[in-house]
Amino acid sequence: MARYTGSVCRLCRREGMKLFLKGYRCETAKCAIEKRGYAPGQHGQGRKKFSEYGIQLREKQKVKRIYGVLEKPFRAYFARAERKKGVAGENLLQTLELRMDNIIYRMGLAPSRNAARQLVRHNHFTVNGRKVNIPSYILSKGDEIAPAQKKIGKFPVKTALESMKDKSQPHWLIFDVESKKGIVQDLPTREDITIPIEEQLIVELYSR
Ligand code: SF4
Repeated sequence: MARYTGSVCRLCRREGMKLFLKGYRCETAKCAIEKRGYAPGQHGQGRKKFSEYGIQLREKQKVKRIYGVLEKPFRAYFARAERKKGVAGENLLQTLELRMDNIIYRMGLAPSRNAARQLVRHNHFTVNGRKVNIPSYILSKGDEIAPAQKKIGKFPVKTALESMKDKSQPHWLIFDVESKKGIVQDLPTREDITIPIEEQLIVELYSR
């Protein structure tokens, strides 16, 4: 399964905003956006003027980078979103939100989507009692997520469970620390996705 392995802070600097790709570090003064809030490279501090295409492209890149998805699967998500009833851009964001790695991150069981991806790959979680180790697995309403029995007492799941009480979760997801079970209560709506994304620009880009 292909994934981006370069510097993630570079991606934030390219998009000119925090994409929260590094977990705890993103909240500190060590964040590269705080220290060097301009694009990387020799001309990073030069004047920026994007064409209409450039604006659409940057929006698409931003979303791909936030969710850690490469171009080919992203296109496939878009094609699927277009086929579904409703607004294509909103369908696309909803599908991305329902990826297994994103759900683990949103529930507060991992500090970043990258960390969540690794936990999923390493068999740390089950869905409806069955082992799932595919980060791109799309969950549905009513699906139940739980740490694999063997991993509950071990780092990093143990640490995540201990620190969960302080974390907030979106209303459409619930994780109960006592029973160590989470559930996708509802499908996320556009209002639930608070990241500043203009998904219409992505629809326009792919409609060219
Ligand atoms: Fe982005 Fe986090 Fe790196 Fe800051 S620390 S630049 S938010 S990945």
